[in-house]
Amino acid sequence: MMKKILTIIGARPQFIKASVVSKAILDTEGLTEVIVHTGQHFDANMSAVFFDQLGIPKPDYQLSISGGSHGVMTGRMLIEIEKVLLTEQPDCVLVYGDTNSTLSGALAASKLHIPVVHVEAGLRSFNMQMPEEVNRILTDRVSTILFCPTQTAIKNLQVEGYPFVASNGQPQRIELVGDVMQDSAELFATRAVKPQGVTLQDGFIVSTIHRAENTDDTDRLISILSALNDVAQHTSVVLPLHPRTRNIIVDLKLDIANLTLIEPVGYLEMLWLLQHCGLVVTDSGGVQKEAYFMGKACVTMRDQTEWVELIEVGANVLVGADKEKIKDAIARNLGRTVKDEQSLYGGGVAANNIAKLLVAAL
Ligand code: UDP
Repeated sequence: MMKKILTIIGARPQFIKASVVSKAILDTEGLTEVIVHTGQHFDANMSAVFFDQLGIPKPDYQLSISGGSHGVMTGRMLIEIEKVLLTEQPDCVLVYGDTNSTLSGALAASKLHIPVVHVEAGLRSFNMQMPEEVNRILTDRVSTILFCPTQTAIKNLQVEGYPFVASNGQPQRIELVGDVMQDSAELFATRAVKPQGVTLQDGFIVSTIHRAENTDDTDRLISILSALNDVAQHTSVVLPLHPRTRNIIVDLKLDIANLTLIEPVGYLEMLWLLQHCGLVVTDSGGVQKEAYFMGKACVTMRDQTEWVELIEVGANVLVGADKEKIKDAIARNLGRTVKDEQSLYGGGVAANNIAKLLVAAL
């Protein structure tokens, strides 16, 4: 009997993860997928470009819910997702990561006793002020199947007392499958393309900033941008700007003329930047790992990271938002390459692991 997986996506990193998991589901006999796009990210360069570039199947439902406070957005998604679930009656609901789309999907499904499958389970920053941390902890707790990307994630769950009893009365299933972002990075690496209309010196720095803890704290944002602006006097810094960050920067009227600010790029362009840069400086979760997959050192402008193994192997350094620390870490890491000797993220087979386990579990 065909098993129906209903997948909820809505934010940029989820499109990239879905590009490989949806393909694995499509290629697996006995599985069929219904895709719901919540609308959390809706600009063409934050959404449509990924469907075009990565061949993600067209969503079956477009909920067009974006903006508003966390409560408003999550609440509206909960209402609309529940309606879709009642219509579709899927065998499970699959959610990715830690966004409001993730939590709404998990909550709507668990209340209807539909098994929740969480891809990227078990990650923790141990900072409960991050919206992402709240989303991932609550999602893990109501999930029936928890697909973990790393050994650290498995350990985090064990420490918290997992597995608990799931809605089917059985203990939750916790599986180490590897990281689907490695699958996508490997699958699309050879198709990377140079972003159009940007001139970059050799050894340039690619940077992304969008975490609320940085964008919504003016002191932190000013400190980060002024560090990067100083560095850009001698090494070009290209910043594909997340719409949230752009809006805030425009309001602050900062002197950041040395920076090469560009619109968000597609995934193939992002891979090109990561492949050709001299260093990655970011507060993104996904970009920290992609730097590693592309053999580049990473400076992370956060106080914690969920990807602690990158710190342990010395591929990534955490510097927070302090201007001097950022500049110092950039100076020390510029041009440094790293090697994935221990295959920390499973080696690019996570999506197939997930599809196989789903066939067996559903
Ligand atoms: N990304 C992209 N274009 C950009 C910036 C990022 O395609 O202009 C990709 C990046 O390569 C990674 C994903 O978006 O695969 C990361 O998403 P983001 O940083 O928004 O979220 P996070 O991983 O921090 O949750």
